[in-house]
Amino acid sequence: MDSRQHFSLWYFVAAMLLLFALQSVLVAQHTETLAYSDFKTLLHAGKVKEVLISDESISGTVDLRNADALLPADALKDLSKDNLEAHPFVTARVPDTDLVADLQAAKVRFSGQIENRWLSTLLSWVAPALVFVLIWVFFMRRMGSGQLGGLMDVGKSRARVFVQKETGVRFADVAGIDEAKDELMEVVDFLKNPEHYRRLGGRIPKGVLVVGAPGTGKTLLAKAVAGEAGVSFLSISGSEFVEMFVGVGAARVRDLFQQAEKLAPCIIFIDELDALGKARGISMFGGNDEREQTLNQLLVQMDGFDTASGVIIMAATNRPEILDPALLRPGRFDRQVVLDRPDIKGREQILRVHAKNLKLGADVDLAAVAGKTAGLAGADLANIVNEAALHAARQNKSSVDMGDFDEAIDRTLTGLEKKSRVMTQKERETVAHHEAGHALVAEARPGADKVAKISIIPRGIGALGYTQQQPTEDRYLLKRGELLDRLDVLLGGRVAEQLVYGEISTGAQNDLQRATDLAREMVTRYGMSDAVGPATLEKTRSALFLREVATPGHAEYSEHTAQVIDEEVRKLLLTAQDRVRATLSGRRELLHALAQELLRHEVVDRAKLLAIIDSASSQQSVSQLPSEASSPSADVPAPRVPEKRPAAA
Ligand code: ADP
Ligand code: ZN
Repeated sequence: MDSRQHFSLWYFVAAMLLLFALQSVLVAQHTETLAYSDFKTLLHAGKVKEVLISDESISGTVDLRNADALLPADALKDLSKDNLEAHPFVTARVPDTDLVADLQAAKVRFSGQIENRWLSTLLSWVAPALVFVLIWVFFMRRMGSGQLGGLMDVGKSRARVFVQKETGVRFADVAGIDEAKDELMEVVDFLKNPEHYRRLGGRIPKGVLVVGAPGTGKTLLAKAVAGEAGVSFLSISGSEFVEMFVGVGAARVRDLFQQAEKLAPCIIFIDELDALGKARGISMFGGNDEREQTLNQLLVQMDGFDTASGVIIMAATNRPEILDPALLRPGRFDRQVVLDRPDIKGREQILRVHAKNLKLGADVDLAAVAGKTAGLAGADLANIVNEAALHAARQNKSSVDMGDFDEAIDRTLTGLEKKSRVMTQKERETVAHHEAGHALVAEARPGADKVAKISIIPRGIGALGYTQQQPTEDRYLLKRGELLDRLDVLLGGRVAEQLVYGEISTGAQNDLQRATDLAREMVTRYGMSDAVGPATLEKTRSALFLREVATPGHAEYSEHTAQVIDEEVRKLLLTAQDRVRATLSGRRELLHALAQELLRHEVVDRAKLLAIIDSASSQQSVSQLPSEASSPSADVPAPRVPEKRPAAA
């Protein structure tokens, strides 16, 4: 409710109060209240002239001259002094069986009153109802016209549509997604020279769907298209269309397109298209009418307008698999641009864009920063640059150096450092052995990413320590042996705890979760299990775009297959555990040495780690267990698997 609405409601309340006051004043004007006992006294004294008796009151006129003598001292205090010989009065009617007799005795002319009830009934029942109807009509009018703004002005997307005449973003500001930029160049071209395209009769896309994980720069890219073409940018979030009032979302869509036509040439950008574009009729509760209506309206509008008008619709989603197929048909969002998480080169370029305005120290190597941030999206990288700058500023440095970047990376990767958190010595020891276990297994497996840093400083929630692995290159294809090696690394912490303490702590839960997920994917998606065979069982459209959105639950296989899968996953995990146990029991000394080093310094970097491994192997020969990487089934191509984030505790 906005302030304006408050205002008119206050008017209303004020008017009611005024009416009330007026009424009491008017009524009080020509009658004055008398106590019943005084009335009786005056009656007995023959002063009452005329009386009208109603259900609740007795009114009439009374002669008040010389009445002071008859009445108590203050009885007449409140009465006016004019018209004393026939003063109007009223008194509440008290049950009094003698009243009529007394009136007759005093020879007063009196009459009863036939109550005129219909009027009071009307007032007490109809008037309030009338008031409510008036209020309702008042709001409905506002809602309908939408001109005045206010509470019910929901049909107008006015406040929600974010219009920018000039986004100020250029393609140069968007880094690391060159293919997407190339694809959108055509759209820019069209917006710049619509005449040219119209003459040639080429078909211009009406809608472009930008697909990518959060923070990969979907919004940024759309803005850059508008910026490059020099057209207005209208943005609205899909979730804002869907409101509680049925029909409002559809009205908003209509309004949005009207606004766009006025501003043409322009770009309409709908963020979170999935919020309103979910496939229809999959809801359990008989569907969401409002959302369906809104979606239908969007489809109608998209079909109805002409590309020649110079309006292009861009939409972003990170869940293309749940979109209603109708949205993707020709003439709608028929052009799709996929934004992947950036690779190492892309990450470096993005870092460069964001570090453009920073004063960087001579030691800053953005390529190295890119190397340490595998798997991060553009927004995370922008955040790292910002954190590094803040960190430098907090320490009053004259430029941002590599230490600031390292700190920013650590923060972004594992959450804020929690120096305040106190761990017991026993807990620290457990964490140290756990992380040492991860690190040693990672170093022992040729297919695993090399360890960059091990830390037992508690960070964020849940992570008590971490082993940061750094892939030597971006990987899009992983062989079975490499996946098995990753599995081993994930189990390394757990097994180390078991070897040293004979039992496992809860700290290994996250590792186990990830190991189980990985093993399951190997069986159900990559066809890497002999018992299940070369079949993909978890079929999801998401696989194409985003790895994260695997949809379990919707089994497309039999009960029996489910059992086989479970069995295979268990077997993978158990054999991995055995392998890891063999590796680590041959390196007990090393495990302890590394854990001690961690307890002493809290952080161990790669150089130090290698030194420890070297000195240990000069004392005893470390047996290198054969990895499965050379097994014949290793050449199974896996779909794109982005690098794993650093292994957490
Ligand atoms: P999305 O819409 O995909 O969630 P945004 O476009 O809102 O992501 O990106 C958030 C921020 O991250 C941007 O404002 C920008 O600062 C940064 N960013 C993301 N991707 C890139 C990129 N490719 N190049 C430069 N900056 C990027
Ligand atoms: Zn762990």
